[in-house]
Amino acid sequence: MLKIANLEAGYGALRVLKGVSLHVNAGEAVAVIGANGAGKTTLLKTVAGLIKSRAGEVLFDDRSLGHLRTERIMSLGCCLVPEGRHVFGTMTVRENLMLGAYGLPRSARAQSSEDLERIYSLFGILKERDKQLAGTLSGGQQQMLAIGRALMGRPRLLMMDEPSMGVAPLVVRDIYRTVEELKQHGLTILLVEQNAHAALGVADRGYVIETGQIVLQGTARELMDNPEVQRAYLGKEYRRIDE
Ligand code: ATP
Repeated sequence: MLKIANLEAGYGALRVLKGVSLHVNAGEAVAVIGANGAGKTTLLKTVAGLIKSRAGEVLFDDRSLGHLRTERIMSLGCCLVPEGRHVFGTMTVRENLMLGAYGLPRSARAQSSEDLERIYSLFGILKERDKQLAGTLSGGQQQMLAIGRALMGRPRLLMMDEPSMGVAPLVVRDIYRTVEELKQHGLTILLVEQNAHAALGVADRGYVIETGQIVLQGTARELMDNPEVQRAYLGKEYRRIDE
């Protein structure tokens, strides 16, 4: 569904992505894990058309996204849940969700109230807080709202930028349970995370990005069993030979 080949992008003189290649098959959940500053956000923003690539190619359903604007990319079914959520704090939960349907064609927008109910059944807390201002929600609830808002755009590929960031550990579990549920319903997911444990727990496959380059790839199991990944991203120490 998504194919990224030799992608290069950056800011001014700063080269961030240095020839990134990866793919996501339909129905898969794929995780890109990496440390702070490795280029994860830049990668998703480039796919979403928020940053212009300098070289390489992004294909969505074999169609090049290279010169398309973000609204067009979204309307093709490629939606981003941004890092830091970016919900509209002075609007209600419902208004934030309805904004997610803004780019849909008129015929699909007519079914927005059914979509809204589906999202409320996925995130019960959003239904309870329907009329509450988004700015008064907790970090975890805002994350759920940002995911819900992206789902209102009826994505086929949902890209998520660090859904665990700034969220309490128990809530991270809830959010990832929902990601698992979305995957079970057939949604294709590309997520980037520093929290390798959470991301590899739900992903089928994964990539490790370091300073703008993919340095490892494999099934989620292979990555979780990899001693380098365990040491650098899963918080496990190497055992000394004499231990
Ligand atoms: P994080 O976990 O902090 O989000 P990341 O892996 O998503 O990390 P990016 O946000 O893609 O990393 O940043 C990659 C590099 O690009 C970093 O060195 C960062 O300082 C730099 N960078 C990010 N955004 C900008 C910007 N708007 N202007 C200049 N440099 C930027």
